[in-house]
Amino acid sequence: MSRFKRILLKLSGESLMGNQQYGIDPKRLGDYARQIKEIHEMGVQIGIVIGGGNIFRGVSGAQKGFDRVKGDQMGMLATVINSLALSSALAAEGVKNKVLTAIRMEPIGEFYTKWHAIEAMEQGNVCIFSAGTGSPYFTTDTGSSLRGLEIEADVMLKGTRVDGVYTADPEKDPEAVKFTDITYDEVLARGLKVMDLTAICMCNDNNLPIYVFNMDVVGNLKKVIEGEEIGTLVHH
Ligand code: UDP
Repeated sequence: MSRFKRILLKLSGESLMGNQQYGIDPKRLGDYARQIKEIHEMGVQIGIVIGGGNIFRGVSGAQKGFDRVKGDQMGMLATVINSLALSSALAAEGVKNKVLTAIRMEPIGEFYTKWHAIEAMEQGNVCIFSAGTGSPYFTTDTGSSLRGLEIEADVMLKGTRVDGVYTADPEKDPEAVKFTDITYDEVLARGLKVMDLTAICMCNDNNLPIYVFNMDVVGNLKKVIEGEEIGTLVHH
């Protein structure tokens, strides 16, 4: 049984690299697609936002001399590339899905509107929201908060490489303490890195809970959906 009717799943582009230095690891992509298939079969309505950091980030581009707005547009296109890869992997698993784009680019994807997205999800499609917000100076964290709110998701599931929110990077600091439950205000007050601050504030202001968990462990997505406490809830 699912504890959620509709979710927004945020996946980072970087985790698509798997053990590679760049690009898309087909094995990791396949693992993600099968995990998504598992919860889709449970009847959960699924919207997905995927990052582009495995291919291009506007900020890094600007440091190397690219115009920031053009760099961000390149980053948004990188999210479209990842979205198409995920769409293809889902289709190979027999999962009906649609890529919706924040910037018009038919026939690569259909232009996003809230109503089109909800209708597609209600008809059993997984919806992949690509090109972030469509505007520069934002990230896919902000994009996923925005889409999560627009599609009236019950929760934003942030699939990362660690199993929750820590006081420090658990891979570097053995003293790092993990939260099992934390409020937005504490996250803001302590300056904890969960996602970018604009995204946290948007969720905070509009009561969208965020659940942070390790998506790289196969089977974890289903556990989260079934209510197993394997991550960290960030809430009002
Ligand atoms: N981006 C943007 N506007 C958005 C979303 C993304 O300009 O609404 C650009 C930005 O340059 C960002 C890049 O796309 O660095 C890739 O997204 P992000 O860094 O969020 O990817 P992730 O870290 O999740 O892999």
